[in-house]
Amino acid sequence: MAEAGKETRQFRAEVRKVLHILTNSLYTNREIFLRELVSNASDALDKLRFRVNRGESPREPDLPLEIRISIDKDAKTLTIADTGLGMSAGELAENLGTIAKSGSEEFLAGLAAEARSAGEESGDKDKAAADAANIIGRFGVGFYSVFMVADKVEVTSRPAFGENAQAHVWISDGLGTYSVETCDAEEPKRGTVIRAHLKDDAVEFLEKFRVESAIRKHSAFVPFPVFVDGERVNTQPALWREPKTSVTREQYDDFYKALTYDAKAPLDAQHIAVDAPVQFNALLYIPDSSQDFFGADRDFWGLDLYARRVLIQHRNKELIPEYLAFLKGVVDTEDLPLNISRETLQENVLLRKINQVIVKQTLSHLEKMAANDAEKYKRFWQLHGKVFKLGYHDFPNRERVSALLRFNSSTLPDADALTSLDDYMARAPEGQKTFWY
Ligand code: ADP
Ligand code: MG
Repeated sequence: MAEAGKETRQFRAEVRKVLHILTNSLYTNREIFLRELVSNASDALDKLRFRVNRGESPREPDLPLEIRISIDKDAKTLTIADTGLGMSAGELAENLGTIAKSGSEEFLAGLAAEARSAGEESGDKDKAAADAANIIGRFGVGFYSVFMVADKVEVTSRPAFGENAQAHVWISDGLGTYSVETCDAEEPKRGTVIRAHLKDDAVEFLEKFRVESAIRKHSAFVPFPVFVDGERVNTQPALWREPKTSVTREQYDDFYKALTYDAKAPLDAQHIAVDAPVQFNALLYIPDSSQDFFGADRDFWGLDLYARRVLIQHRNKELIPEYLAFLKGVVDTEDLPLNISRETLQENVLLRKINQVIVKQTLSHLEKMAANDAEKYKRFWQLHGKVFKLGYHDFPNRERVSALLRFNSSTLPDADALTSLDDYMARAPEGQKTFWY
């Protein structure tokens, strides 16, 4: 089927399988395709920046590093442009025609599990409704998610480095084949433009507010500017990556409110930056209100996990023990791959190490609070003491946890007053073997 400069190829078998499912299934949360395309654009910008920092000079060195999304309602297209690394003809075919490693098999297994847990597995497996957010992006199939919403996709790309400045366009309807040909377009001057022709049932993504809200939700902390129809969307800096000395209390509070939708400022904020034994940054808050972790809020705990400022999982419960469930916040590490699966997260050694560091730091933080600001500590205890008491099961840290426990005792002036075990013992008559409270 070769025309001059144009080559049409079959997708590899594993890609055809994945595409068949993506194009024929019903998904909730289809907006996730935006997260995937934006995170690919962000990766491409990161790779470019890395090589520039190493001393290489890219094409069009004055172009800003950014991501621009534009909507054309008449043409029914959504376009995502980045000024990143770009791809040659060979790379377009290789990167967008195959799936790395065992990605497709894991994807199919993940899809089956997701469909089972949704209780939707009927006779026709391919039609099972599933939550796209749970299955896409973990298996290196992120790009293909665009075919949930598009029936034709054009990827035009010009490499940032190398002698050959020719742009090429990759085109596919997501069925059996794709083509790659040379292209005379002026744009992109450097990097990649992805134009998605939206399906009739996906025209919601021609609404600016719809696209903006998806970007705010999933990609708010991407480290490059993201514009939608010319307007900057991700104005939140990744505060946890900033040096502590440059962040104001007000910024910490605003971030907390954006994160939790809590109207009230937090009781306390803790900013952690660690390089060893693991690298991570964290911003942890103690809310100034309590939750019912033994009832309605049973599942509403955990920290937001980011890898290189891209959100990997909301409310990850491997990062903190249950007795610190009152903590709200984010953890960001350089050491996790973006496409890590949730199963892998569950026994992840890295997360366990981060967990241990967070426990130690939070205990010292609370110790300092108890020593220096008794009023604040009392408030902490009244709000969160009930769940913190579970820390008694944390054997390696039991001494420290028990020193932080507080009780009301009969010698105290009123029912709100609190005492620690140490104070109680110091006051107790010699030889007393029993606690009275
Ligand atoms: P993953 O991002 O996990 O590698 P994807 O399916 O999302 O998997 O993307 C496949 C590959 O296509 C990427 O690894 C990258 O090499 C290439 N790619 C996708 N989008 C872009 C882009 N905007 N710029 C440069 N390369 C890209
Ligand atoms: Mg990707």
